[in-house]
Amino acid sequence: MSQKKEIDDRFKKFGTVSFTSVTRVNDFINYLEQGKVMGTRCKECGQVFFPPRADCYKCFSSEVEWFEVAGKGRLISYSQLKYAPVGFEQDLPYSIAVLDYGEYKVFGRISSDVPEEEIKLGMDMETVVNRLPDGQLNYVFKKTE
Ligand SMILES: [Zn+2]
Repeated sequence: MSQKKEIDDRFKKFGTVSFTSVTRVNDFINYLEQGKVMGTRCKECGQVFFPPRADCYKCFSSEVEWFEVAGKGRLISYSQLKYAPVGFEQDLPYSIAVLDYGEYKVFGRISSDVPEEEIKLGMDMETVVNRLPDGQLNYVFKKTE
């Protein structure tokens, strides 16, 4: 049971976006601590997953490898929230969004550094690790330079 406890503690570091705490994808948190946002890719059929999965739903292989979510994604959807889930009320207002990286899409939150009037569909953004004031880790979308 001690291993279970450790996993739970690691997931507590991941703020903002809730993840299923699947044992074999807990490295996600370790990568965040290294400043990397990672997904997984099936070694058998090449399918990519974000959020990371430990098993491929296409070919049912469990051989997956990590890759870094790097470079630019295109903003294909966003929504400014006026109401937030319980626990996130103090963050309002914030925008949730989807970036299209071609092979995969990333769902997340737009950085509060980005003024709402500068958010435009189709713009390039990047996914970066964000450390919250309380030490929690998440990732946010920022404008690319
Ligand atoms: Zn596969």
